[in-house]
Amino acid sequence: MRLATITNWAYGATIVLTFASGATMLLASNVQERERAAVAQRERLDQASSKVAVEINALSNKAREYVITGDPGHIEVYRREISALRTVEERVRSIEDVGASADELNALADAMRLADLLHDEQEEAIKARQEGDVERARNIVFGIEYDRQLHRVAADVERFQYRLDQRTDSEVAAAADVSRLWKTFSEIVLAITGLLFLCVLYFVFKRRVLRPVVKLSDVVNRLAAQDYAVEPPAYDDIDEIGDMAQAIRVFRENGLERQRLEEERSADHAKRSLLSRMTQRMQECESMHQLERVIESFVPQIAPGLAGRLYLFDEAQNLLVEVCSWLAPEHSQAAFPPAACWALQRGELHRPRGHDADVVCDHLHITGSNSDSICLPLIAQRATLGLLYLEPLTSASETLPDVPEMYLKILAENVGLAVGNLRLRDTLRAMAMADPLTGLANRRQLDTVLQSRLIEANEAKQSVSCIMLDIDHFKHFNDQYGHDAGDAVLRGVAEILKQSTRDTDAFRYGGEEFLLLMPNMSAEKAAQRAEALRVKIGAIQIEHAGHDLGAITASFGTATAPDHCALSKLVRTADAALLRAKEAGRNRVIQAEPRQPQASGRTMTPEQAPASER
Ligand code: GH3
Ligand code: MG
Ligand code: MG
Repeated sequence: MRLATITNWAYGATIVLTFASGATMLLASNVQERERAAVAQRERLDQASSKVAVEINALSNKAREYVITGDPGHIEVYRREISALRTVEERVRSIEDVGASADELNALADAMRLADLLHDEQEEAIKARQEGDVERARNIVFGIEYDRQLHRVAADVERFQYRLDQRTDSEVAAAADVSRLWKTFSEIVLAITGLLFLCVLYFVFKRRVLRPVVKLSDVVNRLAAQDYAVEPPAYDDIDEIGDMAQAIRVFRENGLERQRLEEERSADHAKRSLLSRMTQRMQECESMHQLERVIESFVPQIAPGLAGRLYLFDEAQNLLVEVCSWLAPEHSQAAFPPAACWALQRGELHRPRGHDADVVCDHLHITGSNSDSICLPLIAQRATLGLLYLEPLTSASETLPDVPEMYLKILAENVGLAVGNLRLRDTLRAMAMADPLTGLANRRQLDTVLQSRLIEANEAKQSVSCIMLDIDHFKHFNDQYGHDAGDAVLRGVAEILKQSTRDTDAFRYGGEEFLLLMPNMSAEKAAQRAEALRVKIGAIQIEHAGHDLGAITASFGTATAPDHCALSKLVRTADAALLRAKEAGRNRVIQAEPRQPQASGRTMTPEQAPASER
């Protein structure tokens, strides 16, 4: 039942009970009134009846005085007294009208009758006295019978008064009983009313104040413990409890908002530290391969729920080529021209199915679905280096998880910079390691490569061969045809070396000297390779500024570790063999001598070399 219904009923009952209590009080008061009226009536009748007795006595005395004295003055007073007595008698006789009982009336009627008899006798005595018969008059008013009648009158009046008192007392007692009953009833009703009022007050206090306050206090305690999951009770009444509930609701909403902001801030902090860690790792990458591993492991954490691909721009093919992917993307091609991607054309993030619908890139093969996707161009030093492509993880969910675009842009920016740095480093390294004139690796790179080749050979217990060659009388080209002609000769020889040494590392050792490293190659094979090169170089024909530069020859020294020397002495041993080739007349291949002291170096001239080795 609703609180309002209960309180309304309670108010109604209280009002009814209050009226009932009032009515019983009125009834009790009426009874008391009647009691007082009965007492007053008795008072009046008592007085009247007493007066009758007194007046009858006084009249008798006056009659007696006249009989004794014969003074007519007494007659006069007697007559006045009679008329006064008549008035009193009249009054007493009308007692019946005010509710006297028959018994009482009989007593009073007896007294009146005797009073009349006495009056007759008094008149007779007065008449006898007036006639001079004093003796007779005295006998009448002083006779025994007369006295007896006089006493009977008094006795009858007393009897009347006694009856009257009895009746009045019983009436008063009955009225007092009724009054007491009504009063008790009234008090009970009043007590019930009070009790009901207290019950309603307690009920209302409990429902409207105590219970809400306990609930709100519980909610406040939980909110104070930062438990914002607690639901504040809805007290919408316009009172202090309603105000309190409203204030607690506002407090909770503020707490939730604060919690949300804190979560956002810590999520943002976590994301940024992840991005920063990824950037650090990318900066530490020495190769594109390492960079790909970093991207594959970090991007799924920074953009969870997104599969993706990293494309790099291959200038030679004019294509964006996939270099790595994560979480199995489905919709983008492995290679495509830059014109197929709107992000690359516009130079900014492109999301065809985002908040604003946009045109879908051509490299996406999304068939009839609304699958979301994001393309982020990788830009560094104002050059587009590649593309970061992202799509929802599974085909079931076609919308991108809510990863703020800001993080994706920072991610693309950092990846772009890392790719740019890596390329720049590669370019610089290539520039530092390559000989600009011939395009061959230079001596600095030889130091690095030689080191690793020797270590590999040592670990694999394999031989490694080295060929050193020097163009014969090179100075002559410079001197006779100019420095540029000399450069052309160098480029020509280098080209032969590049073409013929696919499984070897070729270096420009310095000036017009070159060096070839051939892992896992025997001394015999190395000598054959040197001889083949010697023949090819000998066949070079270079024209410069309209002049044929003539025959170009070179001398070769070959060495193989560990056949001819220790690994660490490979280059030096090959160089020594080359020197011997020069000394032996140039345009020849000299193999280093075996390590055994009895073994001697072997010279192969074009004439001596077997036909298969030429
Ligand atoms: P040999 O047969 O004994 O090797 O005699 P050579 O003339 O080839 O050797 P030499 O050491 O006397 O001369 C080498 C010359 O090569 C000297 C130098 O000016 C020239 N030279 C070194 N580097 C270059 C270069 O990059 N370009 C040109 N055009 N000449 C160079
Ligand atoms: Mg030379
Ligand atoms: Mg030289």
